[in-house]
Amino acid sequence: MRVSARFLVSAVSAAQFPAPSAPEIAFLGRSNVGKSSLLNALVGAAAAKVSSTPGRTRAINFFLVSDKRSTRKLIFADLPGYGYARISKSISSTWPGFIEPYLIDRSTLRLCVCLVDANVPPQASDRQLLDWLRSLRREFVVVATKADRLSGNQRACNLAALKKALELDEILPVSAKTGLGIKELWLRIEAVCSANDGA
Ligand code: GDP
Repeated sequence: MRVSARFLVSAVSAAQFPAPSAPEIAFLGRSNVGKSSLLNALVGAAAAKVSSTPGRTRAINFFLVSDKRSTRKLIFADLPGYGYARISKSISSTWPGFIEPYLIDRSTLRLCVCLVDANVPPQASDRQLLDWLRSLRREFVVVATKADRLSGNQRACNLAALKKALELDEILPVSAKTGLGIKELWLRIEAVCSANDGA
């Protein structure tokens, strides 16, 4: 998909969310997992630049993504990175309070893209997030980032460990650096949006 992306808003409360006008894709992951880089690889430099602006890392950054060859539009929602270790009763004590209501209530949310680092052992906070999305019956896809850093054998081993610990049928290796998996992720995003077109 050839797309252009336009930054819409950095929202720090539900009142600031853009009107739910187009199918929405949310991107979630621990800090430093490679979320800005992946967004950059999917839609271009604008997204990553906005996400790394101080003050916007605790917000949900919304982007309007337009297909250059049709009138189709999507919204990408870049959620704040959650913390490393401390997990409270909610997903993470480091997550602002308006994030959970967003994931529970957002009517146009079609897919959560959950990022885990292919180079890091399975993390409790990622498992907790996925279990919570499962309980909400939210559709999600898990991508394993920075896969370029691993050789074939090591990559296969790490992906198998992640699949087992996170109880996944599939995990998509991606690399913002080499472009690995970017096309596959777009196909998944397009599939979920077209499946819901008539809904
Ligand atoms: P964020 O905090 O989740 O937005 O993470 P960033 O996108 O800022 O990336 C964190 C670090 O990982 C940076 O040093 C990136 O250069 C590096 N990184 C991100 N994606 C990749 C990737 O696909 N391959 C490699 N080798 N490094 C990556």
